[in-house]
Order: sequence, then structure tokens, then C-alpha cells
Amino acid sequence: MKIHNFSAGPSILPKEVMTKAAEAVIEFEGTGLSILEMSHRSAPFERVMEQAEALVRELLAVPSDYAVLFLHGGASLQFTMLVQNLLPVNGKAAYLNTGVWSKKAIKEARLYGEVEVVASSEDRNFNYIPKAYKIPEDASYLHFTSNNTIYGTQFHLFPDPKVPLVVDMSSDIFSKKIEVSQFDLIYAGAQKNMGPAGVSLVIVKKSSLGRTSRTIPTMLQYQTHIDNGSMFNTPPCFPIYVSMLNLQWLKDFGGIEAIEKRNREKAALLYAEIDSNVHFEGTTEKEDRSVMTPTFVMKDPSLEAAFLKFASDRGISGIKGHRSVGGFRASMYNAMPLESVQVLVQAMRDFSATL
Ligand code: PMP
Repeated sequence: MKIHNFSAGPSILPKEVMTKAAEAVIEFEGTGLSILEMSHRSAPFERVMEQAEALVRELLAVPSDYAVLFLHGGASLQFTMLVQNLLPVNGKAAYLNTGVWSKKAIKEARLYGEVEVVASSEDRNFNYIPKAYKIPEDASYLHFTSNNTIYGTQFHLFPDPKVPLVVDMSSDIFSKKIEVSQFDLIYAGAQKNMGPAGVSLVIVKKSSLGRTSRTIPTMLQYQTHIDNGSMFNTPPCFPIYVSMLNLQWLKDFGGIEAIEKRNREKAALLYAEIDSNVHFEGTTEKEDRSVMTPTFVMKDPSLEAAFLKFASDRGISGIKGHRSVGGFRASMYNAMPLESVQVLVQAMRDFSATL
């Protein structure tokens, strides 16, 4: 049976990418070596690194005064790394609290300085994006989470950049056009739209660094990784390789513009069903709905287990919602074809017809 993978992450990757990755595990490009047993300093791997960086730069039109880094430690390490690198001693940072991941970022920032949470949507279980707030002008940066993976909300308009913007784009990077120059720092764990788990992407404006007068451990300085082309220590070679293949796939697909169009079609199809089917409802404010990770529930929660089983019998996998929201979450990352969303929508219709 064909599986329709709606997993929140690690998540769906294109079949072609998986096939090429599997081949490279056996033998990488005629070298007689597996990609897994090859020096990161070898010419073939250096080419992988160069291609990966070039693809990020091309797909997102990254300006030349920004560094593109591939690091270990997931998005979670960035919660602390960004603070140490961007928040001066005695400085102040502003944060928007729009969910679990924002809260974790806030917690880490508080270890290093004054943090002002300028707005929060916690009063309604994070089901909306706060719009009216004042950013203190003396803040070194404003941090926010562009897509709230758990709650199914997304910033469709970014905050007004009165101060430098720092964004966690883990669950919507490469899904839509962005203007990199709006931000001082963008970071993302790879395991949704970029590649497999094990690498994170950081895009940082070089001129924003070196101003904190903090003692920062060598591994946690962005400058270390800039100076060493993301090879200060052994990089996560395989996740970088698979990310490179996936970004090549995205380029061949037509790039960000083409994928954004399909992502919008997928989201429109699912939300139309959520809104028209009397047994289902969305969990967030309509204007803040996520294109990547829609969340929804059944009006009668006692039916949810039965729907989950009904969907699973049709190969629909990974739609159980996060425990803090309940119901369902259909993560529809770049690699998901429209067809999988059609299968989900049909399952919702057919299940409703049985009631
Ligand atoms: N930020 C967001 C928005 C996420 O969705 C996640 C993971 N789901 C994280 C941060 C944490 O990422 P990691 O597991 O790579 O540390």
C-alpha cells in the first residue's frame, strides 16, 4: 500500500532523493567509497559542501554579505548560540512567544541577559499570531518562530524590522519566497524541508557578529564556522549530502516559486475540507493558518480514534496531532505531492459519510 507521509519531522523526502542517497551509501560517484566512509576533507566531499551552499544561496537569493552555515546540534542549539553571538553583555533581547519552540528559545536567552517578551498568544493555547505589539528600540534583536509546527500557525507577514530580526524557520524554510536581507539571522533544523535530521542551517549577516564582548566557546561562535567553511570539526556529512540532493530536487522542481504555488494549493484543498465538512474544524485563527502544518480536530473528539484508524487503513501516516493540541496535524512539507492531500481529503469525506 502506498503510504502518505504527513509526519511533522523528520518528514517526507522525495523518492528520487532517497534513491540517490541509498546509492551513495553503497558507492559515491564512482569513487569506490561509500559517502559514509569518506573524508570530509576529500575533494568529492568538498564539492558536496560547495554545492549545498551554492543551492541554498541560489534558492533563497542569499546576499553575499551573509554566511551560510551547516552546523550540528539542531535548531535547539541555535536557541543558545544566537544569544551568545548577538546579545551584548547587559543587552536586551525581544521575543514573540507563539508556542513551545518560542518558549524554549526564550528560556535559553534568559540565561544570558534581559529578555522582553513583547507579545504572546499563550492566552489561547497559541492558536493565533499576535499582531499589535511594541518592540523596544533598545532591543538588540527581535526573535520569532515563523511557523509554529505544533499549533499550526504561521507568520504570513513578518514583524516590522525596527530592530534586527532573528527567525527560527525550522518548519517553513524553502516553502515560500523570503527576503533574506530582512533578517540578521535565519536558522532551521534540516529535518522538514531541507533534508534528514542531523544538520541545521544558519544564514547570518556577517556584520552582525563580533559585537557582544562575551567569551563564547569556540564551537559556539558563528565566526569559527564561517572561517572554516562549516568544517571546523567533522561536519554531519551524510545529512549535508542528502540536503544537497533535496535542494537540487527543489531547484529542478522549479525552485521556491513553483513549490510555494503547490504548497498553497495543498493547503487550500485541505482547509476547504476542514471548513466545509461538518464533522471537522480548524484549531487556529483563519488568517494565521499555516500552509505547512495545518491542525484540525473533530467536533466530536470521541470519533478521533476511529478516524485515525480509518485514515491509517488508506495509508495515511503521521496525522495524529501533538498532545498539546490534540486532534490532527497534517504536515505537508515540500516533498508531499498534491495527491496525498487529495487522499486525506477523500478519507475525511468518506469517514463523514459513515456517521
Ligand atoms: N523550532 C521549530 C519551529 C521546530 O519545529 C523544531 C522541531 N520540531 C525545533 C525548533 C527543534 O529542532 P531540533 O529538534 O532540530 O532541535
